[in-house]
Amino acid sequence: MSGVVSAEIPIDFDIEAIKAQSVAARSYTIYKIIHGSKHENADVCDDATCCQAWLSRDDRISKWDENRSRKME
Ligand SMILES: [Zn+2]
Repeated sequence: MSGVVSAEIPIDFDIEAIKAQSVAARSYTIYKIIHGSKHENADVCDDATCCQAWLSRDDRISKWDENRSRKME
């Protein structure tokens, strides 16, 4: 779930906004599980235009580093 939330909301947003996004992301996944997925072998995919955005651990850390670098400029 951290891969989804980190792709959907910037890390420097307020912690309460990140918590709310986490609940929304989880709720969306549960909705797809209950109501059926259009994917044969998964409940959701990692395409933001189809299901949910997703970042790998390395991409997430890279994004955080970019964000940190921008703030220091
Ligand atoms: Zn999909």
